[in-house]
Amino acid sequence: MTQDDLRAGQIDTSRPHPARIYDYLLGGKDNYEVDQQAGDELATAAPEVRIGLRANRAFLQRAVRYVVGSGVRQILDIGTGLPTSPNVHEVAQKVAPDVRVAYVDNDPIVNGHAGALLSGSGTTSIVLADLRDPQAIVDHPEIRRIIDFDEPVALLLVAILHFLTEAEKPEEVVATLRDALPAGSFLVLSHATDDFADRSAAKAIYSKATATLNLRSRPEVERFFDGFELLEPGLAQAPFWRPDTTPPPRSSEIGFYGGVARKP
Ligand code: SAH
Repeated sequence: MTQDDLRAGQIDTSRPHPARIYDYLLGGKDNYEVDQQAGDELATAAPEVRIGLRANRAFLQRAVRYVVGSGVRQILDIGTGLPTSPNVHEVAQKVAPDVRVAYVDNDPIVNGHAGALLSGSGTTSIVLADLRDPQAIVDHPEIRRIIDFDEPVALLLVAILHFLTEAEKPEEVVATLRDALPAGSFLVLSHATDDFADRSAAKAIYSKATATLNLRSRPEVERFFDGFELLEPGLAQAPFWRPDTTPPPRSSEIGFYGGVARKP
């Protein structure tokens, strides 16, 4: 299957896909045998991976509640993933019912589940697009229908940037998106890391998937916040970003950094 076939909206079941591996490991049903095999391999080689994914998901929810609580009413969530309850718009609209959410993913299977990602009120939308072409996301008419780039936006890049290689210039990608946002916007970002434990098993498994896993160190992740001001407590291991319950005692299990920043 070529990239063009994928763009045409077909689902490639011959290779494991990040969205479907993630869904499988979180206990979802929207995955194929290749994804289940990759997920099982990953969970065998690195049993803590599920703890990390849940911690990432919990970070996402706390961060969304925080930014909406700060007054932002528009969310651009790139790398949405398959619907995992509660979805971003459900978390956000619980805090403020008038929040608008534009979901973006490059996996057609995510688009196929639009029903669960759309609110009845027409204030939520899903667009099939690729983070590696950020200008196309900003210019997309459907995104522009939901998001007014003259008003503050919460940009969510949660557990996605590690699927971009250095050659794909993730720093420039983030800068393009940042430049499209007005002052007072937020960046919510999480990223896989091997700062706390060796993650070579996870890397090896993703090397057979449609996107590779590019683990990055704290300084490598922090540079994505250039042009933003990181809010307290800065970039933290996911469970330690403004925990609302007691964070887990063993920190090496969680290979995710999370942080929230504001564009001045
Ligand atoms: N943000 C969600 C899901 C993370 S899984 C969460 O943290 O819970 C990563 C998602 O990013 C997958 O759905 C995958 O399909 C998507 N993705 C990976 N590379 C992408 C790219 N280049 N452009 C758009 N989406 C991408």
